[in-house]
Amino acid sequence: MPNKISRAALLVPLLLLSLNALVVVGIASSQDAPSAHWTYEGEEGPGFWDELAPDYALCGTGRAQSPIDITGEQEVNLADLTLNYQPSALNIFNNGHTIQVNYDQGSTLVYNENEYQLVQFHFHHPSEHTINGEAFDMELHLVHRDANGALAVVGVMLREGEVENPAYAPIFGHLPSEAGEPEATDIRVSAGDLLPESHLYYTYSGSLTTPPCTQGVRWLVLETPVEVLAQQLEAFASIFELNARPVQPLNVRDLLYDGSAGE
Ligand SMILES: [Zn+2]
Repeated sequence: MPNKISRAALLVPLLLLSLNALVVVGIASSQDAPSAHWTYEGEEGPGFWDELAPDYALCGTGRAQSPIDITGEQEVNLADLTLNYQPSALNIFNNGHTIQVNYDQGSTLVYNENEYQLVQFHFHHPSEHTINGEAFDMELHLVHRDANGALAVVGVMLREGEVENPAYAPIFGHLPSEAGEPEATDIRVSAGDLLPESHLYYTYSGSLTTPPCTQGVRWLVLETPVEVLAQQLEAFASIFELNARPVQPLNVRDLLYDGSAGE
């Protein structure tokens, strides 16, 4: 009997540990190795994601999904985004769903006293979030993860402009048209320069916008768009004509806007 008790006492923390590991692995693998093939159109498109694999169920049943139409936001004083971004090698690749840049370690976002590492950024065409019903040409997602595996994504709207933004040139100049593995290059990229000057943002709690649509993602969508050239938009669109999930219902979630006019 004493043996049994001590074994049970050992098992409980072990079980908790492995559950934690599962959650973290689940979030990490969601960006790398989804359990079933999916697309943005047709029979494996967004309306069917929840039927493609058991772990995609939240794509259909989740009540806190992303993206959303940003409208009717509540204006409050929100914490500033503290971005400690360093330049990184341009580890750029086509993962079959988007063009992604894996970011070197050492760049952080501090939000509400929680520190997140910038892990990667990638693009959607057209934008996934809409603002008062308006879609933008593209949307940049900077994905951050904290020590517990929780995600915070900074969204930046891109629209067509006349002046080339030098921060985007190395990315749009090296878009891999074929799916493949990340390859380190000598080219440098600076994530901080990809953002607009104003960091005023909308925020809500949502999900990954790709299967398995994991919830609990802190979304920080910047209000001010950034301009890129028409030929840059065309270069991306020639690889991904459509890689945006349609907007999802807000349901009973807070959608807040930083009206503090800081930064
Ligand atoms: Zn995304």
